[in-house]
Amino acid sequence: MSEVLDCSAIGFVPHDLKCDFLVIGSGCGGGTAARVLAEAGKDVILLEEGGDFVGPDRLTQRDTPMYDQLYVDRGGRTNKDRTVNILSGRVLGGGGVINACDVVPIHDATWAYWQKHHGWSDFSASAMQPYVARALADLSANRIEEKQINRNNQILREGAQALGWRGEVMLHNRVKCQGLGSCLIGCPASAKRNPRMVSIPKALAAGARVLIRARALQIRDATTDRKRVEVQTMDSKGYHPVNRFAIDAQTVIVAANPVGTVALLRNSGIGNRTLGQHVSLQPQVPIVALMPDRVNAYDGIPQAYALTEFEQHDPDVGLSGFRVESIFGTPGVLGSLVSAPGATGKALMAQLDHVAAALILIPDQPVGQINVRHDGRPEVDYTLTAEWKARARQAIRAAARAYFAAGAKSVVIPAAPPLLLQSVDQLAQIDTMTFDPATISLISAHQQGGARLGTEESTSACDLRGQVWGTRNVFVCDGSVFPSSSSSHTMTPIITMAHALTDRLLMR
Ligand SMILES: Cc1cc2nc3c(=O)[nH]c(=O)nc-3n(C[C@H](O)[C@H](O)[C@H](O)COP(=O)(O)OP(=O)(O)OC[C@H]3O[C@@H](n4cnc5c(N)ncnc54)[C@H](O)[C@@H]3O)c2cc1C
Ligand code: SF4
Repeated sequence: MSEVLDCSAIGFVPHDLKCDFLVIGSGCGGGTAARVLAEAGKDVILLEEGGDFVGPDRLTQRDTPMYDQLYVDRGGRTNKDRTVNILSGRVLGGGGVINACDVVPIHDATWAYWQKHHGWSDFSASAMQPYVARALADLSANRIEEKQINRNNQILREGAQALGWRGEVMLHNRVKCQGLGSCLIGCPASAKRNPRMVSIPKALAAGARVLIRARALQIRDATTDRKRVEVQTMDSKGYHPVNRFAIDAQTVIVAANPVGTVALLRNSGIGNRTLGQHVSLQPQVPIVALMPDRVNAYDGIPQAYALTEFEQHDPDVGLSGFRVESIFGTPGVLGSLVSAPGATGKALMAQLDHVAAALILIPDQPVGQINVRHDGRPEVDYTLTAEWKARARQAIRAAARAYFAAGAKSVVIPAAPPLLLQSVDQLAQIDTMTFDPATISLISAHQQGGARLGTEESTSACDLRGQVWGTRNVFVCDGSVFPSSSSSHTMTPIITMAHALTDRLLMR
C-alpha cells in the first residue's frame, strides 16, 4: 500500500519521477481514473493541489478555516460579471469532500440527446448501464431514510404535496451518517462515500502514488511519446509556492474540474478553439422562508427532498425545466445571504431557527466560456440568457408557492434589494427580477463543459475517447467532457464517465 506524499514540507522535491499514467486532480473524475488504472496493474501517479482532510481533527466544522482549505479560491470564485458564485473543491478527493451527497444519475433522455445531437454514438443508455452500476456501487448509493428527513426538507415536501406536485426523497452516498449537518464543509464522521473514502484508498492499495500540495503548471511535449509535466509544490496551507519539479509520463489524464482543466491545457499551449467553449454553470437560486414554528434546519441531512414536478427530460433538448431542493448552509453562509446591514441583519439572523431554505436548480444551455488571462489565471465569462431568466422567474414562483402552501409567514429571495413576499398574492413581484449584475448572487456547484467530447475537431475539444485533439495521449476525464448539463447533480455522471473513459483507455 502506498502513502499519500505531502509535498508541502519545505525542501521536499521528488527527483526523477516517472510513470505510465499521470492523473491531475483527485476528484470524482481523477480519483476514479487513478483507481481503475492502478487496479489494472498500471503505474500511476495522482497529483492534487489541495491538502488531505479526514476526520474531526482536520474537518473542524468551522466556516472560515474550512472554506479556506477545502474550496477553490476560499469559495470566492465568481464569473466575470459576478452574478454567479462558482464553487468547487480544492482538496484530496475534490468536490466529493464538500458536496451535499445527492446521487442523481444521467437520465436516459440525456444520453439519447447526446447520441442524436452530439455524435455520442457509443454512449447509449443501455451501453452505459454497467458504468452507471459501477458508479452507484462506488457511492454505496442508498435512499435517504424517512427518519433522516429533517423538518426543513419535510416543509418543502408538505408544500409540494399540498399542491399535488411530484417530488422524491433522494438517493445519497452517506453510510452511518450522524446527521451533523455540516456536509458542505466536510464530514468529520467520514460518512460520505466520496473519492477520498473510496477510490483514493483503493488506488493507494493498488500501488498508485498520490502527491498532495502539488499543482500541475504545464504539460510539455504533448505530441510526443513521453510528456514532461511541470509541478509546483505549495506550502502547508496551499497558498504559497515552495518548489518545482517535473514528472515524466507516457499518458496524462487531466481531471481538474472544468475551470482547472481548461486553464491547465491552455497554459500548456494545448487545445483547439473549442477548448474553453460551451460551458454550463447550472446557476442555482437560493430561497428562504420564515416559518411560524422552529425548523432547526441546521440539524440533520441538509438536502434530502427534491420537488421534481417541473424538471423535464427530452431526447431533443436534454435536461431542462427546474427542480427545488431543500438545503441549509452553515451560519456563515446563511449570514452572507442576508443582504441587510447592522441591526436589521442581526434581527434576521436571530430568527435562523425559524428559517426554511432551498435551492432552485435551473439547468442552463452551455453558453459560457473559460478564458485564461495573461497572468495564467482562469476567467469565466458567463451571461445569463433571457430564456434562463424567464424560467428562473417561473421557478421562483413555484418554490414560493410551495412554501406558502406549507404555511410560511413570508418568503425571501436574497437579492439586492431583497425580495420579500408576505403571501401568494404578491408573487407577481417576482416578475420584476432582472438578474442584472449586482442585483443577485447565484450559486454554481455543477460546472460542466469546456472540453467536450465529439466526433469533429471543429466542434469539440476531445475525441470520443477523451483524447485532446492534436495531442498524443493527453486525455480529459472530468465534467468538462459533457456537451450539455448531464444531470441536476454531477458527481454520479462524472464517476460514470470516468469509469467508461478509463475502460476505453485500457482497451487501446
Ligand atoms: C458545494 C457543492 C455541493 C455539491 N453537491 C453535490 C451533490 O449533492 N451531488 C452531486 O452529484 N454533485 C454535487 N456537487 C458537484 C460535484 O461534487 C462535482 O461536480 C464533482 O465533485 C466534480 O468532480 P471532478 O472530478 O470533475 O472535479 P473536482 O472534484 O472538483 O476535482 C478536481 C480536483 O483537481 C484539483 N486541481 C485543480 N487544478 C489542479 C492542478 N493544476 N494541479 C493539481 N490539482 C489540481 C482540485 O484541487 C480538485 O481537488 C457539489 C459541488 C459543490 C461545490
Ligand atoms: S450530515 Fe452526515 S454526511 Fe453530513 S457531515 Fe453530518 S455525518 Fe457527515
